[in-house]
Amino acid sequence: MVPTVYLDYAATTPVDPRVIAAMKPYFSDIFGNPSSVHRAGQQAEGALEGARRQVAEVLGAQPAEIIFTGCGSESDNLALRGAAWAGRMDRGASHILVTPVEHDAIGATADDLARRQEFEVERLTVDPHGRIEPGTLANAVRPDTAIVSVIYGNNEVGTVNPIPELAAVCRQAGVPLHTDAVQAGSQLPLDVDALGVDLMSLGAHKFYGPKGVGALYVRSGTRLSPHLTGGSHEFGLRAGTPNVALIVGLAEALRITAQERDEHNQRYRALRDRIIQRVLAEVPDAKLTGDPAERLPNHASFVLAGVDGNALLAALDLAGFACSSGSACKTGDPEPSSVLLAMGLAPDLALGSLRVTVGRQTTEADIDAFCDSLPKLIARLRRAEVAPG
Ligand SMILES: *Cc1c(COP(=O)(O)O)cnc(C)c1O
Repeated sequence: MVPTVYLDYAATTPVDPRVIAAMKPYFSDIFGNPSSVHRAGQQAEGALEGARRQVAEVLGAQPAEIIFTGCGSESDNLALRGAAWAGRMDRGASHILVTPVEHDAIGATADDLARRQEFEVERLTVDPHGRIEPGTLANAVRPDTAIVSVIYGNNEVGTVNPIPELAAVCRQAGVPLHTDAVQAGSQLPLDVDALGVDLMSLGAHKFYGPKGVGALYVRSGTRLSPHLTGGSHEFGLRAGTPNVALIVGLAEALRITAQERDEHNQRYRALRDRIIQRVLAEVPDAKLTGDPAERLPNHASFVLAGVDGNALLAALDLAGFACSSGSACKTGDPEPSSVLLAMGLAPDLALGSLRVTVGRQTTEADIDAFCDSLPKLIARLRRAEVAPG
């Protein structure tokens, strides 16, 4: 078997051993329910609130502004549904502004609100790099806009949006801004006051924490209706006994990530730029997708004319490289990515997408091996494409 070079850190990351060590006691020794009055419960409650303080510190927020959830998708759902429902209830606002380059956790949730509850969902236009201009938002935002949601760092094409400028537009209009920072969490600044956001989603498994836990920052005073009802956990915004072990893991992973961010980013940028430079130089008709400058430090993404993205991923996997197309297209039923289409790419070109994302374990040798193999694999696929039968 060929050992796999993992180049799909945008899909998920391995859990940091320091995070595993921090979580361990909370699966067995300290297992109490944080809502219980007795000492075992209070011990768990102490860990939960410690984690909340730790997350708040990284975000420059207050502990009471941090809601723990079951994943990044749930944070997105709570932000969008919660703000939409509260906006309609409080001020009759039924207009939702999102972008066409959101993760499905926002895109499909917006569509669901439109279909089932008659919210008016509008998608802002993006530039060819998938970026949202503050002027575009200023022209589209309305007094009856319940919520604006703009992705921070794009999972598919790596583009970073100008969140502080977009937040200024929202503040002027008196409309809350949510940002999906799930992909950005491992690399970009997360200070909520510098960003100016009212709501921000995070998911631990994108920054070397465990899967199945997320957080939502909710700026004090931002109105939100819960979509998961029951007990009064998480300030009444998310019912359910908190998973203390995973929450401790999220907090520790976030603390470590913030602390080591600059050091890792510097290395990522060098690896990323090496990939981009070599692919563009050595693969005929390769085109970079996403913003060339304003992009996530670990993220390289391309479209390759005349190549089926799924076939390429399978060939790369056989050769020992784990990459992604960056989209959710399924084998056998290839739909071009709506993100790439919104950026103005032709459907047949959008089917030839490739995403290569590096992380803490990636070495220069990995990148060289990948860049040595890729042109040959693509040439072979292109020959097969034009060959009869
Ligand atoms: C991964 C991801 C999500 C979903 O997070 P989960 O924790 O897997 O539910 C949402 N948005 C973006 C941008 C992501 O990259």
